[in-house]
Amino acid sequence: MKKILIIATGGTIACVQSEYGLRPEMDGEELLKYIPDLRDRYQLDCLQLCNIDSTNMTPDVWGKIVKAVKDNYLNYDGFVICHGTDTLAYTSAALSYMIRNSNKPIVLTGAQKPINLDSTDARTNLSDSILYAADDNSTGVSVVFGGKVIAGTRAKKTRAHSFNAFSSVNFPALAVIREGRIIRYIPCRKFQEPVQFTEKVRDSVVVLKLIPGIKPDILEYLFLHYDCLVIESFGVGGIPQSLVDVFYQEMEKWISKGKIVIMATQVVNEGSDMEVYEVGQKIKNDFNLMEAYDMTLEATITKMMYLMEVCDRNYIEIYDGFYKEINYDTVYNQS
Ligand code: ASP
Repeated sequence: MKKILIIATGGTIACVQSEYGLRPEMDGEELLKYIPDLRDRYQLDCLQLCNIDSTNMTPDVWGKIVKAVKDNYLNYDGFVICHGTDTLAYTSAALSYMIRNSNKPIVLTGAQKPINLDSTDARTNLSDSILYAADDNSTGVSVVFGGKVIAGTRAKKTRAHSFNAFSSVNFPALAVIREGRIIRYIPCRKFQEPVQFTEKVRDSVVVLKLIPGIKPDILEYLFLHYDCLVIESFGVGGIPQSLVDVFYQEMEKWISKGKIVIMATQVVNEGSDMEVYEVGQKIKNDFNLMEAYDMTLEATITKMMYLMEVCDRNYIEIYDGFYKEINYDTVYNQS
């Protein structure tokens, strides 16, 4: 019998109604009571790591999830992490970097409605996740939700209410699950290298979303307080004239101190390409800026958190690492 560890962290899937709205309260064992058939087919054990709305997820909790997988790695065939949907895509991207080369599947799932309601996606999502985590051909970190299997670095919550809450951005879904059958579009990788766990990331990353007419005064603060600034620009990417002078001043001050700027785009699909317009090309070349290209914002942020931890302040290693594909996070290879 396949052994699967359910790591429960809270989220809507585990919520009950309280006086002030939905609150995560059910533990992993209670969740499993709603899918009793699976207990006959698999050995399912539960580990309750926390019981939080994923609005409260932090990089520290990612570290605890990694430790839980690491401590139990040899004893289980696969792992299912129950998680709130709001920040699930950040966690799935973070775990894609923090747990590398795993031949055992690590699946994140959750639900748009609590598992104890008559009309809910929770039972299907949890059953599908267990099925996928127990399959011999599954490896790596992925999200199983709404009948889709999405690479951990490509998931994004694109619907606030519907059951098909997650999209696979700029990359096809790895598989779909229909009526208990896994239909694979992209076969999972088998890793030769040993599995690698990183329990800590450096969370000194901030995102600046540009708006028309944005004022430059915020830049000084952001450069002073963070090691990595991700700029969510418009379209394929560029810096508005209103920011340019201060941006050059700050870059000249900070770049030699190892601070990093990544250009990303507010446009979800198809990604950045700063070379296209004057407003992007010059600044990119003047500072050898990195850009996210087709990566999701969640993957961009968590990849930088991971690289800043493992490469310390070695800019060349961070630069090369950023452009090296991990868990299908980019199809560009710029290094
Ligand atoms: N606020 C909830 C959470 O992220 C939403 C959900 O799980 O669907 O924990």
